[in-house]
Amino acid sequence: MQLLDGVLVSGHIKEQIKQEVKDWQANGGKKPHLAAILVGNNPASEAYVGSKVKHCDELGFDSTLLRFESDITEAYLIGEVERLNNDDTIDGILVQLPLPKHISGDAVINAISPGKDVDGFHPISLGKMLLGQPSFLPATPYGIMLMLEYYKINTAGMHCVIIGRSNIVGTPMTILMSRNTNPGNATVTMCHSHTKNLRDITLTADIIIAAIGRPKYVTADMVKPGAIIIDVGINRIDDATKKSGSRLVGDVDFDNVAPISSYITPVPKGVGLMTICGLMKNTLLAAKQAKELIG
Ligand code: NDP
Repeated sequence: MQLLDGVLVSGHIKEQIKQEVKDWQANGGKKPHLAAILVGNNPASEAYVGSKVKHCDELGFDSTLLRFESDITEAYLIGEVERLNNDDTIDGILVQLPLPKHISGDAVINAISPGKDVDGFHPISLGKMLLGQPSFLPATPYGIMLMLEYYKINTAGMHCVIIGRSNIVGTPMTILMSRNTNPGNATVTMCHSHTKNLRDITLTADIIIAAIGRPKYVTADMVKPGAIIIDVGINRIDDATKKSGSRLVGDVDFDNVAPISSYITPVPKGVGLMTICGLMKNTLLAAKQAKELIG
């Protein structure tokens, strides 16, 4: 079994990004600038946004964090997104999900200018991705593709079983893995909560990508020996041995699945770090494209 090490791969990609930012600035480009919107004070969202802002600093990007109370109206939030769309100093906009129930995530994402959609969630980004046109790829699937690329895992002809069909992970992942690219060229099966006999399907998988949101849901008896395991899940479970009383686990039962897999991502220090790389690469691309557009 080989660990697909998010610390190692993201470290390598971050060095590349840092160098690219330096070269870009040396040629007259300005620092990429990411604006992050956080609504309310969900602790997980706070942690994710905090990490993204910290990474901006580390990579030589500017960042602006806009925080709003959870009772903000949808119209006000959309107005703020439009203000950022019209601000030429901002290259990328991310809205940390989930939003409070009274605000439509779709409406807010749709309001982001496609040229600043660095999370890759806008319908234009997703449509272009579907058609194989250059676009901002959704950050997590993009990060997973970067991980597979780093380890030179040739997925052509593999049976890839993706569990979960969310718009931000599972669905775009099925598109990317089935494209005529490398990584890609896999035969993809998408599973969800209505899938019957999930275990029969996962047992035929050469690669399993789990994006379910259920702790340790993929167990060893669901995995073919030698399969590649990509665990997207981030779930907090109780753990009395930890100071905090809890710890993070993935959607895969790592301890029992790792010994029979060929490659596996840990949680934490796996896909989560790659998601940040996807976001940062998109933000740098947005900055470069803005210069082309604005001059
Ligand atoms: P969603 O809740 O939006 O989607 C979960 C998907 O899992 C749904 O499609 C659902 O099916 C499916 N599902 C739920 N239960 C089962 C089941 N018993 N059998 C088969 N399929 C099932 O979650 P996300 O895609 O947003 O996130 C998934 C996980 O990944 C979460 O733990 C999240 O925290 C994590 N995550 C991690 C990221 C990272 O950077 N590492 C980034 C984004 C998310 P149905 O559609 O039928 O309801």
